[in-house]
Amino acid sequence: MRMSWKLGRVSGIDVYLHPTFLFVLAFPQVTHGGLFGLALVLSGFGCILLHELGHALMARRFGIGTEDITLYPIGGVARLSRMPRAPGAELLIALAGPAVNVAIIGVLLLLGLLGMFAAPWGASLPGAFALNLLVVNLFLAVFNLVPAFPMDGGRVLRAALSVWLGRMRATEIAAGIGRFLAVIFGLVSLAYGAWMQVFLAAFIYLAAGAELAAVAADEDRRRPEDRGGHWDAPPGYRWVSRGPGRWQLDPITVTWDDRSRARWR
Ligand SMILES: [Zn+2]
Repeated sequence: MRMSWKLGRVSGIDVYLHPTFLFVLAFPQVTHGGLFGLALVLSGFGCILLHELGHALMARRFGIGTEDITLYPIGGVARLSRMPRAPGAELLIALAGPAVNVAIIGVLLLLGLLGMFAAPWGASLPGAFALNLLVVNLFLAVFNLVPAFPMDGGRVLRAALSVWLGRMRATEIAAGIGRFLAVIFGLVSLAYGAWMQVFLAAFIYLAAGAELAAVAADEDRRRPEDRGGHWDAPPGYRWVSRGPGRWQLDPITVTWDDRSRARWR
C-alpha cells in the first residue's frame, strides 16, 4: 500500500503528496514568513508540480507514460513507465521541466511589463510575491540544469555523451559526475546545517547509483546484435567484452610467433 496522499489527477496522471512533505511547515520561510511565506512556499511547489508535468507531457509525446508524480519536501519526482533509450528523446524530456520554469518567469515578467504589479515590484504585496516567485523559478531552472545525474542537467549530459560513447559508458560518466557533485553539495550543506539539502544530496547520490545499476542490467540483457551500432566487426577487429554491457572493438593482433607458427606448421 502506498504511503502518499493523493492530491488529484492532472492530464490523466495521479499527483501524490508524500507524508514527509509536512516538513515544509518547518521551513524558515513558513515559520518566519507568516502567511506570505506559506503562500510563497506552496506556490513554489505548485511550480515544481508544473515542472514535473513538463517532463511527463514531453515523455508522452514519445509514447512513454507516467506512473505518477509525487511531491517531497526536497522536490518532485515524475515516475516514467520507462526511460527513453534515444538520446534525442531523453534530451527533450529532461529539458521540458526547466523550460516550464523559464516559461513561468516569462509570464511573470510579461505581467510586470503590463503594469500588473506597482513599480517598483518590491513595494507592493503582489509585486513582492511575483518577484519572489520569479526568483524561485530562476533557482529551479538553474539548479535542475546542474549536470548532477540523475537531475535534469545530468540527463542532458548523459544524452549528449551517449551519442558517441554509447548509453552504458555515458551513464557511467554522468553518474560519476553526479555522485561527485552530490558529495560536494552534501558536505557544504552539512557545514551550513542545511538538513533538507543534505537529504537532497544523499538522494541524488543514491539515485545516481541505482540508475547506473539499472542501465548496466538493461544493457547486459541485450544481446550484442541488439545493442545498436555495427556489430559486425570490420576485418582485422573483434568484439571484446569489457564487463557487464560494455563491448570494445579490439584489433586482432597477430604476433610474430603466431605468424611464424602458421608459416612453418
Ligand atoms: Zn526536472
